[in-house]
Amino acid sequence: MPNLLYDTLFAPGRDSDRTFLTDVSGQALSYRDFHALAARQANVLASAGLVPGDRLAVQVEKTPEALALYAACVMAGIVFLPLNTAYTLSELDYFITDSGARAVVCGAETAADLKARSAASISVLTLDAEGKGSLTDLAASQPPTFAVAERVESDLAALLYTSGTTGRSKGAMLSHSNLLSNARTLADLWRFDSRDVLLHALPIFHTHGLFVACNVTLIAQASLIFLPKFDLPTIMRMLPQASVLMGVPTFYTRLLGNAAFTRDLVAHMRLFISGSAPLLAETHVEFEARTGHRILERYGMTETNMSVSNPYDGERRAGTVGFPLPDVELLITDPESGAILPAGETGMIEVRGPNVFKGYWGMPEKTKAELRENGFFITGDIGRVDEDGYVHIVGRAKDLIISGGLNIYPKEIEMLLDEQPGVLESAVVGVPHPDFGEAVLAFIVARPGQSPDTKAISEAASTNLARFKQPRDIILLDELPRNTMGKVQKAALRERYKNRYV
Ligand code: ATP
Ligand code: MG
Repeated sequence: MPNLLYDTLFAPGRDSDRTFLTDVSGQALSYRDFHALAARQANVLASAGLVPGDRLAVQVEKTPEALALYAACVMAGIVFLPLNTAYTLSELDYFITDSGARAVVCGAETAADLKARSAASISVLTLDAEGKGSLTDLAASQPPTFAVAERVESDLAALLYTSGTTGRSKGAMLSHSNLLSNARTLADLWRFDSRDVLLHALPIFHTHGLFVACNVTLIAQASLIFLPKFDLPTIMRMLPQASVLMGVPTFYTRLLGNAAFTRDLVAHMRLFISGSAPLLAETHVEFEARTGHRILERYGMTETNMSVSNPYDGERRAGTVGFPLPDVELLITDPESGAILPAGETGMIEVRGPNVFKGYWGMPEKTKAELRENGFFITGDIGRVDEDGYVHIVGRAKDLIISGGLNIYPKEIEMLLDEQPGVLESAVVGVPHPDFGEAVLAFIVARPGQSPDTKAISEAASTNLARFKQPRDIILLDELPRNTMGKVQKAALRERYKNRYV
C-alpha cells in the first residue's frame, strides 16, 4: 500500500545497519533500530485507538524516542503535532483544543496536570528527557513491525504551529507531498549523501530542526549527531566528527565568540547552513575570515518549509537568502493591492510550489486571506530581488512602522545602527504616539566590553536618515529578547514600551 513519505524517508532504513544517529554520549542507533522503535510506537498509538487522520500532540524533550514519534505517525497515518517545550499548560490546552488532538505525549508532570483537568478525555502518554515513560514502557511489549497505513500525497503528515512571533500561533497543515518535495529538493541542492553527518543541536518541534534537518538526513541515508540542545563545549567537541552544521544565527555568533573555534577545527566540514532568523552580513563575513567557509543562508517558514536558498556552488552572498528553490516561484507584490511590482522593488514576498501548505487548521478565513486561489502564499515578509536574482529579506510586514502617514522599514534604520561604533546589534520598532500614530524607537546592544555613545549614534542617524525615520529614542539593552529559534521578539519590545509616548 502506498505511503510515499514513509516509502521514501523511512522504508529504506528498515533493514539497514547504518548509523542513523549518535547521541551525546556516543551511543549509536542504527536505521534498523530506529525503524523498529517507531514501529513499536506506532503499535502503541494504534492500540490507543488512534486512526489515520487523528492528531497526536507531542510536547517532550528532545530524544531519539521523540524523533521516532514522527516516524511512527507517518507509519500510522497520524498527523504529527509537535509543540515547543516552553509552552505552559494553558498554552498546551489551546493547542490540544484547537487541533482536536486525540492523544498527547508529554512529560510526567504535564500529564498529571492534564489528567487533573476534566477536559482531558484524551489519551495521555508520557516520555521524559531520558526517553522513558509510559510510551516507552508500552512500546517495549509491542512488535517491531507495523502495517503501514496507506496515504495519498495530499493527506496531512503534520500540523505544525508557527512560532507566534507576530501573534497567536497558527496550525499549518502540511501534507505528505509538502514534506517530501522539500526534502528531495533540499537534499539535492545541498548535496547530501550517505557520508554526511549532521550536527543536530536544534529543537525538533520546529520546521528547521525537524523537517529540514531530519528529512534531508533521512532521504540521503546520512546520520545525525543528535544533541539535546546547543551547548558550546559539546558542539566544539562534536564538530570534528560532523560534516554539516545546521543552525540559527545565534549558533554562529556564539561559535565566533569562542577563540577555540578555529579554521583547523572545521577544515574538514562540508557545509554550514543558517536560517530561521536573519544572519547579519557581518557574521557571514567574520565567519569566512575565521574559517574559510561561507555560511549558506536559506529562508523558509512553517507554512512553506524552505522556499529560498543560497547556492551550493555559486556565490553565497552575505545579507541575502539566495534564489528561489528550483520548484518554487517567488513574486514581489504591492502589500496593499497585491499587484506584481517591477524588478528590484521592495514589497511582499509571495511563494508558490509543492512545498506550500494546505492552509491554517480551523481558520478558513485566514487561509483565504493569505493563500491565493492561484496557489501563491502571501508570506508576510517584505523583501526584494536584486539584479542578480538574490532575494533580500527586509523584514516583516507586521513590523512596518507608519509614522505621520509614512512607511518606514525598520531594517534600514537597523543597518545604520549596526554600523555605529560599539554596537553589536539593534532592533527598531514602532510604538504608539499621539501625533504621529507611531514613533520610531530604537534598541541597541553593546559589543562586549564597549559602551556605545547613544548621543553620537543619534547624531549619525540625523545625518543619514530622513527626519521621519530618525529614532525618537535609542535605548541600550543588555540583550534583545529572543525565542529559542533566535528570533527577535519585536512584539515583546512594542508591548514593553507601548506607553512611552502616550
Ligand atoms: P508567526 O507566523 O506565528 O508570527 P514566525 O513567522 O516567526 O511566527 P516561523 O514559521 O517559525 O514562525 O518563522 C518563519 C519566519 O522566520 C519567516 O516568515 C521569516 O520572517 C523568518 N525567517 C526565516 N528564515 C529567515 C532568514 N534566513 N532571514 C530572515 N528571516 C527569516
Ligand atoms: Mg509566520
